[in-house]
Amino acid sequence: MRHSLKNATFALCFTLSLTYSAMAQPAPAQPVHGVALDHLDRSFNPGDDFYRYANGEWLKHTEIPADRGSVGVFSTLDDTANVQTAAIIEAAAKSNAEAGSNARKIADLYNSYMNEQAIEAKGLAPVKPMLESIARINDKRQLARALGQTLRADVDPLNNTNFHTSNLFGLWVAPGFHDSAHYEAYLLQGGLVLPNSEYYISDSEHMRALRSKYQAHVAAILKLAGFADSDKRAAHIVELESKIAKKHTSLADNEDIIKADNRWKQSDFSAKAPGLDWAEYFRAAGLGKQATFTVWQPEAFISESALVASQPLDVWKDWLAFHLLEQYAGVLPKAFADERYAFFGQTLSGTPQQRPRWQRGVRMVSAVLGDAVGQIYAERYFSPEAKARAQAMVANIIDSFRKRIDALDWMAPATKAEAKAKLSTLYVGVGYPESWLNYSALTIKPDDLFGNLWRSSLFEYQRERTRLGSAVDKKEWSMTPQTVNAVNLPLQNALNFPAAILQPPFFDLNAPAAANYGAIGSVIGHEISHTFDNEGSAFDSAGALRNWWTAEDHTHFDVATQRLVAQYDTYKPFPDLAVNGRQTLAENIADVAGISAAYDGYHASLDGKPAPEQGGFSGDQQFFIAFAQNWASKTRDAALRQQVMTDPHSPAEYRGATVRNIDAWYAAFDITPERKLYLAPNARVRIW
Ligand SMILES: [Zn+2]
Repeated sequence: MRHSLKNATFALCFTLSLTYSAMAQPAPAQPVHGVALDHLDRSFNPGDDFYRYANGEWLKHTEIPADRGSVGVFSTLDDTANVQTAAIIEAAAKSNAEAGSNARKIADLYNSYMNEQAIEAKGLAPVKPMLESIARINDKRQLARALGQTLRADVDPLNNTNFHTSNLFGLWVAPGFHDSAHYEAYLLQGGLVLPNSEYYISDSEHMRALRSKYQAHVAAILKLAGFADSDKRAAHIVELESKIAKKHTSLADNEDIIKADNRWKQSDFSAKAPGLDWAEYFRAAGLGKQATFTVWQPEAFISESALVASQPLDVWKDWLAFHLLEQYAGVLPKAFADERYAFFGQTLSGTPQQRPRWQRGVRMVSAVLGDAVGQIYAERYFSPEAKARAQAMVANIIDSFRKRIDALDWMAPATKAEAKAKLSTLYVGVGYPESWLNYSALTIKPDDLFGNLWRSSLFEYQRERTRLGSAVDKKEWSMTPQTVNAVNLPLQNALNFPAAILQPPFFDLNAPAAANYGAIGSVIGHEISHTFDNEGSAFDSAGALRNWWTAEDHTHFDVATQRLVAQYDTYKPFPDLAVNGRQTLAENIADVAGISAAYDGYHASLDGKPAPEQGGFSGDQQFFIAFAQNWASKTRDAALRQQVMTDPHSPAEYRGATVRNIDAWYAAFDITPERKLYLAPNARVRIW
């Protein structure tokens, strides 16, 4: 789980936001090949605060733009990727491409987003038939049907760490836990609009205030849509969501794969989780013939199903109507979109201003027609030379991992053999996938924004639903080439490194090896290590859920990782809120392991030759500075609080401090015991 390098689920919340492009920002200065020397603040001692030593000047001179929750290296590169994507869309719009072609779909979708006049003129008409059909629901059986019709393939607990859907439940189609050769159906809890259950349960003053603002937002949306008694209805909707939240599984527990391994036959649901008319629900979802499901959070299913029976029909109907309006508010008339932004952008994330519409349009097209845009993106922006170099780095770092496994004194020989088998069957996708998604079944119209997005969500759902039971394509990607991120796919035993992250400052064909290995190399190592972390180690070399570790292996691993939990628990971004070492454990392990393997890979790449200096820094110093510069970022307080509570990744500053676990860092910067980051050799956490 939590296998991506950073979380894109709540794009507004993360320090390294992927959400929107920022073409209005000034162009970055002429690129420097190697580490960014002008970002360093040498008034900090590297041993006291390595993050500020490497990024201090950048932090001093960077301001968070008014239309963002955060700014950082990721978001800056994301801006570049969005400018590149915008150019693709612009070219498509000018090309007057033939009807039905991908280029025409790109152009029509973008134009449907930009045509605000048409959106205003239609008003609520596009969503009216759905609202009317909700209003006609007469009994709980019809309610079950309506709930089934909302099921979408909108969650992904293992690859992209997306546990959130505001529909009652979410579907994930992926290789089976016990048969990784075939696609199976996973069902996840849902039903909440706020980011997770903590928002409904927490008794802190901050959260109570947020909840009352949320209720006002629910009322405002209902009022805009013409509902009478909107305040009263909103109170009941929030009350229902709070009841759902009470039995939701927490993020930390969601990561426990063994707890998620609950195989239910379709015929079991009525007995195991009574309340909802399951037969009607599955029929309406097009899953009437699906024999088995893996139910990720049984307790939540039991509770949510019971609530369908026990709570008044009218409250559920309002809940359905509000969730529909909420999901599509961004593409309805301006009053809806503004109200949604006022709550989610301003109140929840603290971002004062919304990004320009055309930037949001680029982002939307890139998401809805991801492969159509991605195919052009890969051709234009990712050279065969860059691909070959990146593949060579990957091979080098995998080799370092192999040697590290051989050298482990705590791991049993049989476990080592399986670990190495996992490395040799690992599929590493670099740049772009080997095949592209076909959009011919998706109708896109130039003047029908709501319809385009509605059809797209059904198109995606149909695609996922119809491949249930079919053979797994191990080389399938879960990220588009234009995404600035990287991901580990544990059930496929595969990694994806999209073209967009293989650009400066992470990866630069003209930079010294030290900078490339410190920056993108540690990212590559991070993703490889997820193959063996507390969750990745649950899957064997075939991607099957199987315990291939001995009890002693686990004991050692648990002791080492407990120390890492304790290390991160001490970090406090706010006086009243600490990093959750357990919630962030898998990512912290990946950071420690990633930098270790990248460091070895770097030295292997030197092949005995001396490393060139840059700005008076040795190769090793450049390597560690480049690593810490990956994490340069600034985040608004509200967004940072949201991240600490919902994100499996630690805040950027603490990711930069990972170096304190690496012996070579102490030698490179001559770090002595009185320094704040100093850890005695036996207190440094070594896992791989
Ligand atoms: Zn990760």
